[in-house]
Amino acid sequence: MTDPSLSTEPISISALAPGRTRVGIIGAGPAGLLLAQLLHRAGVDAVVLEARDRTYVEHRQRAGLLEQNTVDVLRAAGAGARLDREGLIHDGVELRFDRRSHRVDFPSLADGRRVTIYAQTEIVKDLIALRLEEGQPLLFEAVAQEIVGIDTDQPVIRYFHAGAEHTLDCDFVVACDGFHGIGRQSLPEHALTTYSREYPFAWLGILAEVPPSCEELIYARHERGFALHSMRSEHVSRLYLQVAPDDEVENWPDDRIWDELELRFAVEGDWKLERGPITEKSITPMRSFVAEPMRHGRLFLAGDAAHIVPPTGAKGLNLAAADVTLLARALDDWYSRTDATGLDRYSDRALRRVWRAQHFSNWMTTMLHPDPRDDAFTARLYLSQLDYVATSSAAAATLAENYTGLPLE
Ligand SMILES: Cc1cc2nc3c(=O)[nH]c(=O)nc-3n(C[C@H](O)[C@H](O)[C@H](O)COP(=O)(O)OP(=O)(O)OC[C@H]3O[C@@H](n4cnc5c(N)ncnc54)[C@H](O)[C@@H]3O)c2cc1C
Repeated sequence: MTDPSLSTEPISISALAPGRTRVGIIGAGPAGLLLAQLLHRAGVDAVVLEARDRTYVEHRQRAGLLEQNTVDVLRAAGAGARLDREGLIHDGVELRFDRRSHRVDFPSLADGRRVTIYAQTEIVKDLIALRLEEGQPLLFEAVAQEIVGIDTDQPVIRYFHAGAEHTLDCDFVVACDGFHGIGRQSLPEHALTTYSREYPFAWLGILAEVPPSCEELIYARHERGFALHSMRSEHVSRLYLQVAPDDEVENWPDDRIWDELELRFAVEGDWKLERGPITEKSITPMRSFVAEPMRHGRLFLAGDAAHIVPPTGAKGLNLAAADVTLLARALDDWYSRTDATGLDRYSDRALRRVWRAQHFSNWMTTMLHPDPRDDAFTARLYLSQLDYVATSSAAAATLAENYTGLPLE
């Protein structure tokens, strides 16, 4: 399908801000920033509107594990230099249960694929720096309030910035504005179907100024609850504990956290959890959510605006990157060849990957977290499944293939 009413002539930068652009992007999280950078590389103008200030966006602690696809697309966007220097490459993960430890090797099970540890905060810093260095429009403290005309050829974003209301006329609007943004709510109610699941537990996450006590991530199932040992760099550890969804950070003084982590990671043989100063603590609820479709008229949804996964499979950030990779290619095809195939197929293609990630994240979550609602029989079934993954290369390949990320279509 093509739309002859759209001009494919390039728009000069001076003609852009603040009133008109080709692609209006709401949100400067990883999805919005990466999309803007990919479009810039393809010669497609975009304006990014971000509600928060730069410091806030650059310091928001979230994900940190990148699939090979995400690394590849960040490199293609020109944001791979520091990632290549500072990212930690991991070839496997460790599973712990019944005080035993098992390693799942990625390259041998997943066609040579591996993962990279590089914090979301650093990706966001790199992409913001690139965009500003290249003189591309990125407005902080610019709050999108309404998207109008998504069924027309000229959708408009109304936004508030520097004490005044503004409008941004666009060819397309991409809502990369996270779970609580206005993008998804701008689709007509009858056009949207949502699917969700809440889990009866949450993650208490800490950041600690101490070198990691392991070389690869440790996922532990213990009768007291799940624990994960991750890291942000060679000097900073990131650790998580399963807690009740209504628990509060105030209930967890530092010593209690370290004691509980020690109990849940306990394993036969020599292994010591190094303790250090905790610099951040927060509790994150666990939720699965999908909104379908991811497009209506000239409005597209990408990243957390359309879907949320529980963090056990480390898929949230990677899905956001996959969405905008598809979308950037589709918009490039439109502007370079007036080919709308990619735009028309975007929602179906993205959702196929989203549902695979939903299944994998749910599979990891239920296998690794004791669920207070489960009876003893169900708990034994999950332990048996974990044991199967730890001892069968066929079962381990399922984990390795999904964890490192299936190739992009
Ligand atoms: C506490 C937490 C911990 C997480 N941990 C992990 C993890 O360990 N592993 C993992 O894989 N994933 C994790 N995730 C998920 C991962 O971080 C997200 O999937 C990822 O941030 C999605 O990127 P995004 O760009 O789609 O959305 P976001 O990063 O949420 O960015 C959306 C942006 O839109 C802006 N915005 C919202 N409304 C407006 C508006 N009206 N106008 C303008 N701007 C607006 C917001 O300020 C924000 O900057 C975590 C998420 C959270 C919340």
